[in-house]
Amino acid sequence: VQRNPGESEFHQAVREVIDTLGPVLRKYPQYAESKIIERICEPERQIIFRVPWQDDRGEVHINRGFRVEFNSALGPYKGGLRFHPSVYLGIVKFLGFEQIFKNALTGMPIGGAKGGSDFDPKGKSDGEVMRFCQSFMTELFRHLGEYTDVPAGDIGVGAREIGFLFGQYKRITNRYESGVLTGKSPHWGGALVRREATGYGSVYFMDEMLKVRGESLEGKVCVVSGSGNVAIYTIEKIQTLGGKVVACSDSDGVIFHKRGIDLNLLKQLKSVERRRIADYANEHGDAEYIPGGNIWDIPCKVAMPSATQNEINEASARRLVANGCIAVGEGANMPTMPEGVKVFQEAGIAYGPGKAANAGGVATSALEMQQNASRDTWTFEHTEQRLHEIMKEIHRSCYETAAEFGSPGNYVIGANIVGFLRVAEAMLAFGLI
Ligand code: NDP
Repeated sequence: VQRNPGESEFHQAVREVIDTLGPVLRKYPQYAESKIIERICEPERQIIFRVPWQDDRGEVHINRGFRVEFNSALGPYKGGLRFHPSVYLGIVKFLGFEQIFKNALTGMPIGGAKGGSDFDPKGKSDGEVMRFCQSFMTELFRHLGEYTDVPAGDIGVGAREIGFLFGQYKRITNRYESGVLTGKSPHWGGALVRREATGYGSVYFMDEMLKVRGESLEGKVCVVSGSGNVAIYTIEKIQTLGGKVVACSDSDGVIFHKRGIDLNLLKQLKSVERRRIADYANEHGDAEYIPGGNIWDIPCKVAMPSATQNEINEASARRLVANGCIAVGEGANMPTMPEGVKVFQEAGIAYGPGKAANAGGVATSALEMQQNASRDTWTFEHTEQRLHEIMKEIHRSCYETAAEFGSPGNYVIGANIVGFLRVAEAMLAFGLI
């Protein structure tokens, strides 16, 4: 805490991992002796830079850009870029730290990183977003490369932004280096299923957690927070597997639609017209828009937080449990506060932490890198099948490892230990670097 003052989200993420590693360090004292934990907590490199750009009226704005290259023991740095006004070093470091373990869990050869800016894309024109992305990449390009650091999207960074960033990278370097960014459009080097992967993957993970308990999504009432990339494809896969999603949200309010969310309308509003979910209720008379509402007040069997960090506090966790929720799967990164996690664990409900449950996005990014490296393109079906197998394997390894270390059913412990051991082993092999 003294070493990294004011970075509360980073402290929270580190504490959550370290609290679970005691049994591992007892079993493998070599990791404590070589100070692997201290080394893992210190990013290999942190880049902070100025991003000047001009809006449509000619006014100049200065934002701050970040890239924290946390750990490259298993492969090139890999992790998304987030554009949101709340972004500062503590958020980027928490996300980068989690990314190390998540990426290790996928079993793919990728290290951990995260980046972004305090730029707010909301209400900006395409031209403004393009000029911002070009300015951002004009600094960041020198740190990237298919063997060095490969960013992707996150909050506020979707296919449009990845396109502008790739265009500027290509222009500056004079290299059509497809493998330098993932989440590209399938028209020019992107992988099919990458757009859907985080949401689909989270639902596959949920399905596995439910199976262990002799349950399935069939006929279950579900609530999915957010209404962005992860939320939309989480809703889609839940519906395919027979569940009913009755609510979604954004930072202004909640949509409750008892009959089940109309996904085509949600996609049209959010992905095509870039409007707000408040407009959803104008199209469906039987849907209710609750401005400033708390989505976790809505009774459900399955909850899938898919918006942002710390969106479920202790009171919301208690409400979910009291309302009969039996499973929580995190599409977002660290959406449940530590006190909320405790509530879920004490209640004995299935709880899938983000670093395991939402790893399908980055896993499919690694599949995109494979396709780029071999100049190949895979079908949707083949790629989705790979994603499904990866999520099943992540679930299996977390589940079995939790049991092996004396905490059966505790996916937090399982995920942290599996991820840590994979990274720690490589770090030890490389010597003191
Ligand atoms: P999007 O930008 O597509 O959507 C984000 C959604 O979350 C929007 O509905 C947004 O509402 C809401 N949201 C964002 N910030 C806040 C906030 N501070 N308070 C309330 N609501 C908020 O992002 P993604 O769907 O890509 O990301 C969602 C989560 O999933 C993040 O935690 C991200 O780190 C995580 N994730 C994403 C992956 C990916 O592949 N995209 C991979 C793994 C994890 P509004 O429009 O009002 O801001």
